[in-house]
Formats: sequence, structure tokens, C-alpha cells
Amino acid sequence: MTTTTAAAADTILVVEDEPQMRRFLRATLEAHGARVLEAETFAQASMLVPTQHPDVILLDLGLPDGDGIDFTRRLRAWSRVPVIVISARGREDDKVSALDAGADDYLTKPFGVNELLARMRVALRHARAVGDADDASEVSFGQLRIDLARREVTRAGTVIHLTPIEYRLLTLLARHAGKVLTHQFILREVWGPAYASQTHYVRVHMAELRKKIETEPSRPSHLLTEPGVGYRLRGPD
Ligand code: CA
Repeated sequence: MTTTTAAAADTILVVEDEPQMRRFLRATLEAHGARVLEAETFAQASMLVPTQHPDVILLDLGLPDGDGIDFTRRLRAWSRVPVIVISARGREDDKVSALDAGADDYLTKPFGVNELLARMRVALRHARAVGDADDASEVSFGQLRIDLARREVTRAGTVIHLTPIEYRLLTLLARHAGKVLTHQFILREVWGPAYASQTHYVRVHMAELRKKIETEPSRPSHLLTEPGVGYRLRGPD
């Protein structure tokens, strides 16, 4: 899929109260073949999701009738539609809260069109892959290959020996490839709910994992850090 067809035939719901921003997003997305729906309030958005079945939601966090983080949390009770937060807030707390509430990704305004389209592509691919992922026995990221059936990880054909924790970290990231996973989420999934505050566990084990899977651990090409937020495994492009 190329950038020019990124959004083709997809229905995008833009939840945003600034008319200028809505106009910009509509023009951009329609130019790439998408169908665009607009909501100025969370109330409108809540009506449109179940009736129009958007493929992706672009969500502003600050709307007159509420907060985007609450909206996302409520939405996740019944829908898995990908949510990309577009917000003027650059604060890491907001990003973490949005991701923990169930958002898939975030973009801080102002952002470039190519960045927006790339994030949407990842979110769509992730949403479509979720159903298949449980059945897949093998996933590849460039030269990195994870054989889930044999619990074997190789890089360029050479077996990499991972500890059980490292293997769980890697497969968690691989299941959510392209998506930012927060420290809290990673701790909960790999270590369990009692470890939610042990952020240093994640840092230490990610550093070890990076040494094993990256050709140049100081300039990682797979396992990317999202400063103050968490980690992301670059998708299989
Ligand atoms: Ca706003």
C-alpha cells in the first residue's frame, strides 16, 4: 500500500470542535479517497459510531461536551474501532492516559499529512490483523522472525536466545506491532497487575531485549522508545 492510497475506501470519523481543523482533515482525507464523517461533540460521535461504522476515529481530546479520554474509555466497552488521538496537548500524561484508556495512537498538533496517513495505515492494519494474529504461527519484521509455534526467535536465520520474560515482551509487542504500548500496559501484561508501578523492570528488560534483537542497539530499527510513554515495535513493512 502506498501513501497515496492510504485511506482509500475507508470511512474516517473526525471528532473535532475546531472548524478549521475539520476542514483541513476532510480535504486531506478525501483527497486520498476516504469517506469523511464529522462530529463536533462527543454526543454526535457516540451516535455516529454505531450507525456509520467508521474504520478509524481521529479524536480531539478537548471538546465542549467532555473529555476524549472518558469518551475512549466508554467506547472501548463495546467497540474496537481504531482511535488516533489528535491533540494540541503535548503532555506525556495525556498521551499515557489516552493510550491506557484504549486509544491506538496519538498525534500532537501540528502534524504532517504523511505522518497522519502513516499512523492511520498502521491502525487499520493492526485492526485487520487482530483477528488473524491468534492463528498466525510466525511473524516477521525484516530479518527478525518469531516462530510462535516453536517459541523460537531468529535474526537473519540465526537463533536468538531469549529469557522467558524477553520472549513475552517481544511477542506482546509483535501482537501489537506498530502500536505504542504504555509502560503500565506492558507491566500488566507481562508481569501482572501487582507490578504496575515497576517501570524500571520494563526499561531493564527492554534494554536486554534490544541488545539481542537489534543489529545496532543504540540505533534501534525494531524496538522504538516513545519517550515518557512506552515502546513500539515497528510494523512489518
Ligand atoms: Ca478542541
